[in-house]
Amino acid sequence: MSSMLMSTIQPEGRRLASAIVYAMSDVEIWRVPITHGGAAAAEAARFLLDSEELRRLEALDRPIGRGEYLVAHVAMRLVLAERLGCDPHDVVLEREPCIECDGPHGRPMVAETGGAVFPAPYFSLSHRQGLAVIAVSANPVGLGMELADLHTDNSTGAESLDLTARLVREKAYVKGTGLAASSSSAELTAFSLTDPASIPDSLGFWQLATVPVPPGFVAAVAVHTLGDSKTVRLHVGDLDLARALGVT
Ligand SMILES: [Zn+2]
Repeated sequence: MSSMLMSTIQPEGRRLASAIVYAMSDVEIWRVPITHGGAAAAEAARFLLDSEELRRLEALDRPIGRGEYLVAHVAMRLVLAERLGCDPHDVVLEREPCIECDGPHGRPMVAETGGAVFPAPYFSLSHRQGLAVIAVSANPVGLGMELADLHTDNSTGAESLDLTARLVREKAYVKGTGLAASSSSAELTAFSLTDPASIPDSLGFWQLATVPVPPGFVAAVAVHTLGDSKTVRLHVGDLDLARALGVT
């Protein structure tokens, strides 16, 4: 068990217990500030990453981008280990089959592994400068996040926030469905199929919700729910990576 993490992560002021039974539409949200201390701690824990993550890490040319990637991915592995009830070393990530061509490049998923006590959850990760956010759920889930000032070049503040809010919902949806991982659908915008001006709260079985994030960011989550449950319950926690790794 990752008892080190269990004793240091405090979602909503409570100790996180993997034994908490969440409803199907519940989503755990972990906000991870990307700090110098966190990046240093993540660097020391880079052995937790797998070969695909290390390849992507090495392909990043800016040190800031590398620190951000390391913090996001090490934190993601700690959170998944906690949810699985296994050691962070034993979290195995795979790719679902692509929803278009069945190739081995669909959205990331957690493999069922021998060391796990609990069923493999669905997860989604997003990181931008200064913040990583991880969503974990028993149901397929997608997370979208952007900087709040993304569109300020050519629109007013309110228009810009509307555009960004719509964009993060689209991203959450296409990541949740797996469309984002399929190359030919990369340009697909889910909501232009319905109403270009709309930011819906649901699309079929997908429920969308705004994720509370610090000022300067906008985030949303999409979770696949089965019919009767139309409410997404978010359990939001903050993860200090340096503390979680026992570095401070
Ligand atoms: Zn494909």
